[in-house]
Amino acid sequence: MDQVKQMFVNGEWISAESGETLQIFNPATGDTVGTVSFGDGRDAKKAIDAAHAAFPAWSRLTARERSKYLYNLYELVRNSRDELAAIISAEMGKPLREAKGEVLGAADNFMWYAEEAKRVYGETIPSSVPNKRIMVLRQPLGVVGAITPWNFPVNMVARKIAPALAAGCTVVLKPAESTPLSAIRLFELIEQAGFPKGVVNLVVGKPESIGQEFMDNPKLQKIGFTGSTRVGKLLMEGAAKQVKRVSLELGGHAPFIVFPDADLDAAVEGLFESKFRNSGQMCICTNRLYVHDEVADAFAEKLVERLKKAKVGDGRNKDTEIGPLVNERALKKVLDHIDDAKSKGGRIAAGGNRLTEGDYAKGFYCEPTVITDVTEEMKIAYEETFGPVVPIIRFQDEAAVVAAANNTRYGLAAYVYTKDNARCFRMAEQLEYGIVGINDGSPTQTQAPFGGFKESGIGREGGHFGLEEYLETKFVSFGI
Ligand code: NAP
Repeated sequence: MDQVKQMFVNGEWISAESGETLQIFNPATGDTVGTVSFGDGRDAKKAIDAAHAAFPAWSRLTARERSKYLYNLYELVRNSRDELAAIISAEMGKPLREAKGEVLGAADNFMWYAEEAKRVYGETIPSSVPNKRIMVLRQPLGVVGAITPWNFPVNMVARKIAPALAAGCTVVLKPAESTPLSAIRLFELIEQAGFPKGVVNLVVGKPESIGQEFMDNPKLQKIGFTGSTRVGKLLMEGAAKQVKRVSLELGGHAPFIVFPDADLDAAVEGLFESKFRNSGQMCICTNRLYVHDEVADAFAEKLVERLKKAKVGDGRNKDTEIGPLVNERALKKVLDHIDDAKSKGGRIAAGGNRLTEGDYAKGFYCEPTVITDVTEEMKIAYEETFGPVVPIIRFQDEAAVVAAANNTRYGLAAYVYTKDNARCFRMAEQLEYGIVGINDGSPTQTQAPFGGFKESGIGREGGHFGLEEYLETKFVSFGI
């Protein structure tokens, strides 16, 4: 058997208290790609203790000193780009080109927050009385528990730990159980970067047990979570008992609206980016495509032509554009959404099936699919699909399409394609979403705020907004 990869707690590689291990599989082939030590709340408790003990010294370092560690990590992650990308691709199926982009995105976060760490400013405020002075300090929250999903297994970690460490917090990370190998490699780099022991800890293991320890342990001040709305609500409820801070990056159901004056070729490319990247497994993925009646047929034709050129396959092959889904459960959900749409009158314009021929038989592949004649009653119109399926809904009227786009409990990302400047502003203002891409199918950058309205979450990652989530505000009143 291959070597069992361990957890990183208090600067040491340790095995789970329970002695349990877990095998990790490649969703493209079903092959085992590694074995990890699989812990629980007891290991999380050790890690929280270590992070708690490390907090006073770490938080008292100057920002410039903390920044040096983050810079070291930036360099190490950048230089390990190919290796980390290969691990991501092997454990969750992402095409290599995209996986390299993800690793560079993670490195960018470490660099950005190495800089931003130095810009945590307080304030002085003029007093209403002559014998007092008001000073406002920004201070780190304390120990942070971070929980991340499998779909961006390195960058989601970076987006949490980089701002937390920059602010002066210490961290315990629990990555997704299907993608711990890339997190473990990242922690080997964290060790090499020289962070003091206990400042950043990694616990791989049972989600409920570790989550419970995060909620119950009073030494942990904040839970930062990216994942499903269902689990986000559980954590928020549990955290409320100790009024712990939470940041939640949850599910989405993005509308993509194409007006008749849009550049249709650009819109097709934008849709391809927003729908098929990561095989449709992104929280900001388009889930509903609204196309104006006048251009709906032309748009569908162009889209189907584009999909014919898209190469589906093992993410490790250089020419693969669309990889497999992460596991059988994910594939079943996608096929269920397709069947449900068909049974309610949806017409399949492209794809529609699981791929089972040749090498595809070993993995969880779904054909890139386009469904027309979609109505609001179909599951795909209101549930997150998380797969490579585009449902096309036709519309006639701007006000009606805005109302339809907003008619969801989610509010993460929305997309609009139009050449009308006034309409661009109306859409930007009226869509109830945390992120609006106007003629842009890929609206994410390290320095921009990322997060959702409504049940898509609380808080923001990215730029100075992301740093705010790890800081407390303290008012100091000086009597003089
Ligand atoms: P998930 O089931 O909620 O899992 C996310 C993380 O939570 C994993 O580490 C998981 O561990 C852990 N977890 C599961 N049950 C838990 C519990 N009871 N207590 C504590 N932790 C628990 O979500 P997923 O299906 O892996 O990820 C896809 C979802 O994430 C989608 O809804 C997507 O939209 C959302 N997402 C949102 C964003 C954003 O920024 N808004 C970004 C990416 C993804 P295990 O892996 O061990 O189960």
